[in-house]
Amino acid sequence: MTKIAFIGLGTMGGPMARVLRNAGHDVMGMDVSADMRAAFDGAMEPSGAAISQADVVITMLPEGRHVTEVHDTLVRPHATPETRLIDCSTIDVESTKALANAAQAQGFGMLDAPVSGGPAGAETGSLSFMVGGPEEAFQQNLPLLEAMGSKITHFGPSGAGQAAKASHNMICGITAMAVMEGFALADSLGLDLKKFYALCAGAAAQSWTLENRCPIPGVVPESPASNDFDPGFAMRLMAKDLRLAQAAATAMGQETPFGAKAAQDFTSFAETHGDRDFSAFYKHLRDLPDNG
Ligand code: NAD
Repeated sequence: MTKIAFIGLGTMGGPMARVLRNAGHDVMGMDVSADMRAAFDGAMEPSGAAISQADVVITMLPEGRHVTEVHDTLVRPHATPETRLIDCSTIDVESTKALANAAQAQGFGMLDAPVSGGPAGAETGSLSFMVGGPEEAFQQNLPLLEAMGSKITHFGPSGAGQAAKASHNMICGITAMAVMEGFALADSLGLDLKKFYALCAGAAAQSWTLENRCPIPGVVPESPASNDFDPGFAMRLMAKDLRLAQAAATAMGQETPFGAKAAQDFTSFAETHGDRDFSAFYKHLRDLPDNG
């Protein structure tokens, strides 16, 4: 049994922490939000005293600034030299490297281990983990990652997990735009969109996004579009991930023009429709009314 301080009990962190507890670990849940604490048995406000008792500290927080603040002011000041640190949040590569360097300077092994698979994957312990950090830290933490996930890939040194996540999500964002534009064109040309979907699903245009985020209500019954664009994966999160990919591309001097356009379009639409599923961008493309 491992004693775990789990910081950030939101949409993803709550179910991940529960999966670890159900696997027999001693999980101390922490969140600044009283609502999130109320939903997790025994949860507390973030506490240095609790962190000093933990074998492992896991963070699942919204953005780089949250993770940096929590690590700088709470985790490193209170962790003991043996404490292992795992950040599962999706944040920028540069902040991750800076945090890993600060952790290493104090002797802590730290992993960046962002995930894909959404709330359903978190509930069922079937997330995909993209991991960066020292091999020794990876091997030590592998059993915990395997409790929460079904596919664990160690990509390399610190930052490599976030690099894989940013690159993967940029493909998803660009593909989403391609699917929505294809349906917008097909609709404008008067095609039967159910027949068009069936064509694409069995031909070269097939993709995860097509099958899970077809933007036409009623075509794929389980899709957010068939449920008034209830997310799914919220537009604001898609916009955030695409901005992280752009930050990484800029830092490396790599041109990613389709990624840049997708980041710009999703960011601008997220200002007014941030809580809708990202496939709701289709309404904007087709200039359809949207009350969401
Ligand atoms: P969320 O907003 O639901 O949860 C974040 C939690 O962190 C909240 O409960 C918030 O109160 C808490 N928090 C914020 N600052 C804190 C602090 N200083 N100390 C303690 N708690 C604090 O977010 P989420 O959907 O669970 O996502 C978490 C991360 O996982 C994000 O980086 C997101 O991009 C990534 N992610 C999300 C999904 C998804 O489908 N939701 C999928 C993959 C990855």
